[in-house]
Amino acid sequence: MKKLPLSQLDAFFAALAAGQELYIPAGDAGTAAFTPWREGLKLTPALNTSRSAKDLFFPQVENLVDFKVTGKQIEIIENRAPAKPFVIFGVRACDCRSFDILDKVFLADPADTYYKTRRENGTIVTLACTEPEETCFCTALGIDPANPAGDVSGWIAEDTLYLQANTGKGSALLETLPMLEEGEKPELDQPVFDRLPLKDLDWSAFGGERMMEHFNSPKWASLAESCLGCGSCTFVCPTCQCYDIKDFNTGSEIKRFRCWDSCMYSDFTLMSAGQPRPTQLERFRQRFMHKLVYYPSTHEGEFGCVGCGRCLQKCPISMNIVKVAGTLGKEETP
Ligand code: SF4
Ligand code: SF4
Repeated sequence: MKKLPLSQLDAFFAALAAGQELYIPAGDAGTAAFTPWREGLKLTPALNTSRSAKDLFFPQVENLVDFKVTGKQIEIIENRAPAKPFVIFGVRACDCRSFDILDKVFLADPADTYYKTRRENGTIVTLACTEPEETCFCTALGIDPANPAGDVSGWIAEDTLYLQANTGKGSALLETLPMLEEGEKPELDQPVFDRLPLKDLDWSAFGGERMMEHFNSPKWASLAESCLGCGSCTFVCPTCQCYDIKDFNTGSEIKRFRCWDSCMYSDFTLMSAGQPRPTQLERFRQRFMHKLVYYPSTHEGEFGCVGCGRCLQKCPISMNIVKVAGTLGKEETP
């Protein structure tokens, strides 16, 4: 265990950023984002960022590859920037767990090499939560916000930052920082987690076993009735992983882009034969069935949600996974 007085945080960030790109959560509550560190940039006072650090492994938009077409010849132009190591400081426990969920999708055979390269080059330094929001429910999903995972786990207690390496990558990172001293993990009294309003959410009605029961539930009609199909819930969600791929003809070459997509959109997975989910009810149901039923059914019961609470904060009609689970769970549990 290492420690550092918070008065030396700027020097610590400068040392981290000397060898590689460093991202820290910065900005005001509501718009805070993981931002490349530069001198003077401070940690956000907000509990968490508006969007998670998912962007750093799975960017919202990326140019995958280009093609040049000459007559009947197609030349593939590999345009990836050389991989560079980077550090993300201040990832919360919920968002750190989301990487495990994304890994099971993007690193499954055949691995997504764009994502894989970034995962291999990224070092994650987490930060324990001490003041969660009322919308947080990571504890109900088995995540301990006071003991986050990551390559390095971090705690702030009073005026000191404590750091514990968990992986070889994490140890190698801490060894490059001579300003760190040896320390003991602080005793953290955090009864606030026991008072979170959503801490006792019951997920026992979900998973793969009652798939058709949930799929055919008449409750979807009222749950989905007001959904605007805006996609906000999917874009802030650290575990959503759907994307679209489009080619653009610039006149001299074809540029192939990948960009995030949302199962809430009417053109999601649109095919020449039509839209497989033509109503908003079907699209709404898909999002929640994926997180509560389909994903756990193929991943040993693990839910596709980490309880970060972002969708509770951002949905313009105040609809979210907690309300869906509460309504469906009530119906299915006598
Ligand atoms: S579904 Fe909502 S609470 Fe769960 S991980 Fe996604 S944004 Fe967070
Ligand atoms: S944020 Fe709310 S209104 Fe928008 S798509 Fe999601 S559930 Fe529907």
